[in-house]
Amino acid sequence: MGGGLIGLSCAWELGRRGYEAVVYDKDLTCRGSASWAGAGMLGAWSETFPDEIWRQRARESARLYGEFVRGVGGDIDFVEGGAEREGYVDPRDLMRELGRRVRVVEREVENLEELDGEQVVVATGAWWLRGAGLPEVEPVKGYILAWDGIEPGRLKGIVRDGHTYLLQRRGGRVIVGSTEERIGFDRKMDRGQIGDLQRRAERLWPELTGRTPTEVWFGFRPAARGDVPVLKRWNPRVVLAYGHYRNGILLAPWTAQWVADEVQRQLGK
Ligand SMILES: Cc1cc2nc3c(=O)[nH]c(=O)nc-3n(C[C@H](O)[C@H](O)[C@H](O)COP(=O)(O)OP(=O)(O)OC[C@H]3O[C@@H](n4cnc5c(N)ncnc54)[C@H](O)[C@@H]3O)c2cc1C
Repeated sequence: MGGGLIGLSCAWELGRRGYEAVVYDKDLTCRGSASWAGAGMLGAWSETFPDEIWRQRARESARLYGEFVRGVGGDIDFVEGGAEREGYVDPRDLMRELGRRVRVVEREVENLEELDGEQVVVATGAWWLRGAGLPEVEPVKGYILAWDGIEPGRLKGIVRDGHTYLLQRRGGRVIVGSTEERIGFDRKMDRGQIGDLQRRAERLWPELTGRTPTEVWFGFRPAARGDVPVLKRWNPRVVLAYGHYRNGILLAPWTAQWVADEVQRQLGK
């Protein structure tokens, strides 16, 4: 359940291992997902994590990334990184290529019983499935600004100061993030937040001064209790994989392996 990067990556990994995986998403475009909105930093060294276990998992995921991207194949804007210089990926490229390789069906799933799969993976991001008694998750709204028409290669790597960061896609688009607000699924464009982010971006990279962003969007990071991802077997048929908060793009390859191992163990194949 859920066709963001977590659900798609799990389905792809399960497919690679010989299982028939189907992804259900309430919106076939997946454009409302956090994955579509994300910047794509693979910040295993610069981000903060809720505990040491998740820090190690993030680093392991960063190490898996190159193999993951090459395994998926197709045309993905990806810069491999490491401890000295962190990598980044265009999550929309990754979603598009994964979406071509796994079966995605448009459907809003309302409860865990309505699916007839032998195993069910809940990867619904910030959308908490009510009524199932599952651990709660809440949306944390974050804006991204984008500027087009900047010469490709102007920015090398990620430029970052605290919660403000810039990176450039290979086509030239410069991405700036971000903000954090716990105000539910609020879909209003807040000029105050956008203006503040723009000023922070200009301070970090004065070349943006006086230029209006070409595009502005927001997404909802999935935050579970203590900001710790919910990754666990729920019952013999259901595995939970949501709540990746600020680092779900980074954590996708590692999560996919964990989930596929778990499914494989349960099915005994
Ligand atoms: C502004 C911003 C910047 C970010 N930058 C980064 C970054 O640089 N690096 C990084 O690693 N992470 C980043 N993140 C976080 C990252 O985007 C998320 O952690 C990650 O995308 C979560 O993936 P997901 O698949 O769990 O959820 P989502 O991508 O939100 O996908 C969940 C999907 O489930 C579907 N769904 C929900 N409920 C149902 C239902 N009942 N039935 C069917 N479908 C359903 C939704 O339609 C959605 O498509 C950022 C997030 C934001 C908002």
